[in-house]
Amino acid sequence: MDLAYTPRQKAFREEVRAWLAANLPREPLASYDTREGFEQHREWERKLFDARLSMVIWPEALGGRGCDLIEWLIFEEEYYGAGAPMRVNQNGQLLLGPTLIEFGTEAQKARFLPRMASSEDMWAQGWSEPNAGSDMAAITSKAILSADGTHYVVNGQKTWSTRASFADWLFGLFRSDPGSSRHHGLSYLAVPLDAPGVTIRPIQALNGKQAFAEIFFDDVKVPVENRIGDEGQGWHVAMATAGFERGLLLRSPARFQYTARKLVELYKANREVADRDPSIRDAVIEAWTGTEAYALSAYHTVGRLAKGARIGAEASTNKIYWSELDLKMHETAMRILGPFAELTGDAPEAVEAARWLDGFLFAQAGPIYAGTNEIQRNIIAERMLGLPK
Ligand SMILES: Cc1cc2nc3c(=O)[nH]c(=O)nc-3n(C[C@H](O)[C@H](O)[C@H](O)COP(=O)(O)OP(=O)(O)OC[C@H]3O[C@@H](n4cnc5c(N)ncnc54)[C@H](O)[C@@H]3O)c2cc1C
Repeated sequence: MDLAYTPRQKAFREEVRAWLAANLPREPLASYDTREGFEQHREWERKLFDARLSMVIWPEALGGRGCDLIEWLIFEEEYYGAGAPMRVNQNGQLLLGPTLIEFGTEAQKARFLPRMASSEDMWAQGWSEPNAGSDMAAITSKAILSADGTHYVVNGQKTWSTRASFADWLFGLFRSDPGSSRHHGLSYLAVPLDAPGVTIRPIQALNGKQAFAEIFFDDVKVPVENRIGDEGQGWHVAMATAGFERGLLLRSPARFQYTARKLVELYKANREVADRDPSIRDAVIEAWTGTEAYALSAYHTVGRLAKGARIGAEASTNKIYWSELDLKMHETAMRILGPFAELTGDAPEAVEAARWLDGFLFAQAGPIYAGTNEIQRNIIAERMLGLPK
């Protein structure tokens, strides 16, 4: 692995750094899990898009910038290093986007990707159902093709859909062959969330926000052009999306390096109290070295991908690593803050502590979303280690 940056990569870093310094919002945006914050983030995304910094690894014709994966890592380092806003359209840009690039028709790419890059269309993910979470092959929501073959009629329910309360579109898996079972007979559809027959009911999360939602479909008509991949082949396409979610795209190391840096600052500012328990110091060191190790491993993976390797089941090791790292860092912050950890943002002197509390609450979900860590361990055992079921 060659860790020296090329002049082009260095110039790109400088450009991103300068643009962020000139354009970062002066005040932090409101949480994207509120309606107000969601729209503020949409505006910010539009600004990134206008600067050609929204989806740097997508082809230029589709709203991207044609960067390679190393440049993408550089972008992420500068972006999160500057404390820039979290990306609100992650489901679209980081999960459906690369899936469309791989499996979409030319017409679908032209229709969906530029509007996704600019966040004119915000996307939600519709995999989970009340009885099909870890066991996603148990999906029962149906999409039945009309007699004239022009559209599907969708009925059923999805749940735990991130930011579906505010999103414009949903991508999801539906059973299009009513006689099928398990991984067969599923189709992958893009459904506009304002279509007649769609009802969205918010679910309150631990942080009190209501962006999370369950979605009900009652005879919703979805044009056949909205199917991604072949009829009945949805599982195969969905596994590619899941790989992007567990692998590098959703959680680049830069995000965790930023948290680790903040954790070191928090420790230094509260050293007198924190050092009463020497294990806190060890936990801070572990967090920092853990994020650096994750970053190096990401460069290693990107180097392999550039040489044509494909990442399969090992995306599961990545998912376990980032979710556990994030949890440990936030637990350590809570220990440093001690009794102050429970202050919410309503107390003006507690803004910093409140951010850690918010992050701590969200970190609890890391081992659950993107496929639970128990399931990832099953995948590692069976597909990577060849252990018996
Ligand atoms: C913050 C957050 C955001 C989410 N966003 C979305 C979203 O946008 N779209 C979406 O579709 N879903 C989303 N989800 C749902 C998430 O993908 C599911 O919660 C997850 O897949 C687990 O499914 P479940 O909740 O039905 O739990 P279950 O499948 O009922 O599992 C319960 C427990 O049993 C364990 N378990 C189950 N089967 C096995 C097994 N075979 N071996 C070992 N252990 C097992 C699980 O690991 C888990 O600990 C989100 C979840 C969270 C927390």
